[in-house]
Amino acid sequence: MENPIRIAEVLLPLALGQAYSYAIPDGMELAAGDFVEVPLGTRSYFGCVWEVGQSFGTNMKLRAVTRKCDAPGLSATHRKFMEWLSAYYLEPKGNCLRMVMRVPAALDDPRMQMAWVLGDIKPAKLTPQRARVLEVAGQGFAMKTSELAEAAGVGASVVKALGAQGALKEVALPPHQKFAAPDLNAGGFALNGDQQAAAQALRQVVAGRDGKVVLLDGVTGSGKTEVYFEAMAASLAAGRQVLLLLPEIALTAPFIARVERRFGCEAAQWHSDLRPRERERVWRGVASGEARIVVGARSALFLPWVNLGLIVVDEEHENAYKQDEGVPYHARDMAVLYGSLGKFPVVLSSATPSLESLMNVDRGRYSTVKLKDRHGRPELPETRLIDMTAEKLEPGTWLSPQLREATALTLQAGDQALLFLNRRGFAPLTLCRACGHRLNCPDCAAAMVEHRFRKILQCHHCGHQEPVPQACPSCGEAGKLTPVGPGIERLAEEAAQLFPEARMAILSSDLARGQMLRDTLRGIEEGEFNLILGTQLVAKGHHFPHLTLVGVVDADLALESSDPRAGERTWALLAQVAGRSGRGEKPGRALVQTYLPQHPLMKALARGDRDAYLNGEKQIREVAGLPPAGRLAGLVISGKDANETQRFARDVALAAPPAEGISVLGPAPAPIAMVRGRHRMRLLVKARRDVNLQAFLGAWLKDVKPKGSLALQLDVDPYNFL
Ligand code: ADP
Ligand code: ZN
Repeated sequence: MENPIRIAEVLLPLALGQAYSYAIPDGMELAAGDFVEVPLGTRSYFGCVWEVGQSFGTNMKLRAVTRKCDAPGLSATHRKFMEWLSAYYLEPKGNCLRMVMRVPAALDDPRMQMAWVLGDIKPAKLTPQRARVLEVAGQGFAMKTSELAEAAGVGASVVKALGAQGALKEVALPPHQKFAAPDLNAGGFALNGDQQAAAQALRQVVAGRDGKVVLLDGVTGSGKTEVYFEAMAASLAAGRQVLLLLPEIALTAPFIARVERRFGCEAAQWHSDLRPRERERVWRGVASGEARIVVGARSALFLPWVNLGLIVVDEEHENAYKQDEGVPYHARDMAVLYGSLGKFPVVLSSATPSLESLMNVDRGRYSTVKLKDRHGRPELPETRLIDMTAEKLEPGTWLSPQLREATALTLQAGDQALLFLNRRGFAPLTLCRACGHRLNCPDCAAAMVEHRFRKILQCHHCGHQEPVPQACPSCGEAGKLTPVGPGIERLAEEAAQLFPEARMAILSSDLARGQMLRDTLRGIEEGEFNLILGTQLVAKGHHFPHLTLVGVVDADLALESSDPRAGERTWALLAQVAGRSGRGEKPGRALVQTYLPQHPLMKALARGDRDAYLNGEKQIREVAGLPPAGRLAGLVISGKDANETQRFARDVALAAPPAEGISVLGPAPAPIAMVRGRHRMRLLVKARRDVNLQAFLGAWLKDVKPKGSLALQLDVDPYNFL
């Protein structure tokens, strides 16, 4: 009998539902999880061995694995995690694997890597492309061909040509700097009584080494961070890796410094603006087990963990954990899933926990650990409503006399005030006073937002920009275009007039990013600024010790929407932003401008009665069968032609098989009925909690094939309803 052919089933990081078979050449040892290079069509790809087996067939013409990569293989738990992820979100497995394999450079032997630096010779001919490459190389970092090409937005051949001419010089990259081991007693405070009890409870859960989930529920400033540090220490002491997940925006330098002080070592960071080489270093560090502490944004879940012992999800209620593009996963939910697969605990921390987590506590699936008081300052900031229906405001102004006076007094006392308005730009809408025309995006069913600092109109859905016109594009009248409503920039104008002496900082995601954002946040923390105007960027996670007044300019902004979580989200946002106040020596307070002072949310906010509000919300969801009492899946059907899109959406709806406990609502035009020139229809699937939603979706959508410009996007557990 013939020798069997050894076969590797290799999953590629592409939109493929299953692994492909390759022959394992003689002399190559492969196991499931190994990273390999394989041919596909005319190209070569990195992939991951999903299974190995053998076949006695002789007529099989399998292509062979080209080589085995040097990187350690993906653990069985991590592969199982990909399988589950794929099944839960009905995404091809390859798309899930792609999230793990974002750093192909890390699969290669680290020793022999070459990179480019600026050479001594000027290139013979300086094309704009070449100039860009040289400009990037001139920043002084040695970069590999692919990195340099990507950073300069050119093909690899441009880089290589410059290298051949000597305009770029090849250097061997130094080895990656190692991640030092943590020192578990390096820092940390003497915990107060409540904190000690909470830390002890978490340590016990960590010692249990199973997939338990604990909700760490404590008011802002109660020391949740200090407490979950103790859980991390326990897991590190057991020799394991720990992952601390944060919403991207909360990954600030002071926070990282705090982690590093506590553990006396560098914390590996993972977020979207890492340099490629640092990305590679962290990926390798995690894969080898050398990086013990990772502080990262949601995608850090997909790092190639070998020995993960704990995940902490800070600010677990944050919507930023939900990814909208690609695989639409929710990092908190997937952290819980990973913990149960890997048999390690997960700690969810928040001052305003999600209803999802609170209901899981009610059902006995999660345990809870509470911190009731702020450390060293028992009282939470006093919150008072300002009834805007009773206030007299000049047209085009937004700060009530009460809030103006409170701000003035705060500044006089040498303290900091924060005016919060969760809206970017100058004005959300521009109208022509002569003809009523409104300036809309040409490609979206949405108004253009004026950004006065940048002197543009911008669409917040597609990014389209244009200069602010002098005359109305519809009737031609000059000087009649009028901004309607406030954005943070318009508020800044008003504040600058009222408080000309104030040292003002404006924090909005389109004005401050990266280093500039970090500098401004540090400036606020150190008291360089005394009047802060901010969008949700400032609402969370930051510790501003000099801040004693928070003014919420429009508390009603997010309440009206089609999103079933609008109330819950507004609650979290307002409670968090109020919680920025009074975190230092002096007590703080929050003034909340609202036109709905009788709304249950506002009344509960003023009383500081979270449970009253959330219990009301829970009841509403139970009655309506909405999450977390029921389950949802969203379908967005889009296409270039309105009629065709509608027809297809109707056909898709008609194809839904009847099922007990499931209803399909729609199709209806999406709240934003057009984006980037594509018409959008929505379907919403509502299911009881006890039915298998995935099985239903799978059976329904298996044969639905959008053609031409049509597209269908499925979102299991949606958070975005636009
Ligand atoms: P939370 O995460 O609940 O918002 P933090 O852990 O950030 O709270 O703590 C709030 C502030 O109180 C921080 O500045 C922290 O350093 C300080 N703090 C908390 N616990 C203690 C403690 N036991 N001793 C001294 N300072 C503490
Ligand atoms: Zn647009």
